[in-house]
Amino acid sequence: MLGISELSKKMPASPIRKLVPYAEAAKKRGVKVYHLNIGQPDVESPKEALEPIKNFDLKLISYPHSAGIESYRKGLAKYYQGVNIDLSYEQIIVTIGGSEALHMALNVCCNPGDEVIVFEPFYTNYNTFALMTGVKFVPVTTTIEDGFALPPMSEVEKYITPKTKAILINSPGNPTGTLYTKEDILKLGEIVIKHNLFLMSDEVYREFCYTDEPHFSCMHIPGAEQHVILIDSVSKRYSMCGARVGCIASHNKDVMGAVMRFAQARLCGPAIGQMASEGALNTPQSYFDSVKEEYISRRDLMIERLNKIEGVYSPMPKGAFYTTARLPVDDAEKFAQWMLEEFSHEGQTVMVAPAAGFYATPGKGTNEVRIAYVLKKEDIANAMDCLEQALKVYPGRTV
Ligand code: PMP
Repeated sequence: MLGISELSKKMPASPIRKLVPYAEAAKKRGVKVYHLNIGQPDVESPKEALEPIKNFDLKLISYPHSAGIESYRKGLAKYYQGVNIDLSYEQIIVTIGGSEALHMALNVCCNPGDEVIVFEPFYTNYNTFALMTGVKFVPVTTTIEDGFALPPMSEVEKYITPKTKAILINSPGNPTGTLYTKEDILKLGEIVIKHNLFLMSDEVYREFCYTDEPHFSCMHIPGAEQHVILIDSVSKRYSMCGARVGCIASHNKDVMGAVMRFAQARLCGPAIGQMASEGALNTPQSYFDSVKEEYISRRDLMIERLNKIEGVYSPMPKGAFYTTARLPVDDAEKFAQWMLEEFSHEGQTVMVAPAAGFYATPGKGTNEVRIAYVLKKEDIANAMDCLEQALKVYPGRTV
């Protein structure tokens, strides 16, 4: 009998995308939908990234090296030097987005059944990578009341078992915008050294930190070189999500040797995307400064508006371009669907991502949504008007 695999049956629909058919139907009815559900920035990619593609006059798009184009990897090593991360190009392998880097990290470090500690809410696709590799995620819950900060390390250590292989973190984080402090990262370093674990550090939002201190990377932890695996991407840094270029890096030779075998099995990363990414390395600081300024002002507007709506609460995110907010509803997914199916305000509505799918613990986050501030301020203001009006008339409102 023909049938799909057990794994396929378990693969969850992305909570970011599963309401898309309702948004499409709303648009067909002529309703304008503000997409705050997805981290697709409207910021332009730097011209330095676009130029190599425009000037592309080769006659053939061939396979690049499995580890990535060498000149690009050398350029990446230089970029890391610039943020005080000491990596040689041999310690960096170019991947198909941060997504493939995460998948490879789990495949390389874990056997099926091994446990990886994650702090929930976390980037929802981590769940799918865990399913694909047979890894069991052990969630440590962080709360909106604490601004989703890390719990005390004594608490974290309680989750370590003989099956624990790694701790996976993401700072600045999706979906909360939480930025772990230098002290937090150093303490995590102590734990992974003490218990001999890997520390997988997803730093795809490194450039989006809104505090005065520079981003503190897990790569900065003294003595943890053999433990830390860096996951990175150009998607957000240069607003180049479609280039599909990321990388995985580690000082651990065994890890990188194994990553290379996975890299060879899929032949290579994208040639055109790597050309653009190599060009992007020449992006001037002024680009980052203006993008950061823009995100800070979008964030400030959104958080102020959210917290003015009765019954809504959002902590102040310190990085990335998301917040996870609590709404006065029991079931945020139903509310999000209702906003698309039954509600509009002056011909407009808003799409948000229900937060439950960002938690691994069933029942958590059901009254929370993730909101991305990736639209211009005028659109954010209109979207906040819609949300405010929607919550006034929603029949399922709890307070
Ligand atoms: N990690 C995090 C935290 C993300 O938010 C994303 C994308 N939204 C990724 C990894 C993967 O992105 P990409 O594959 O485009 O690099």
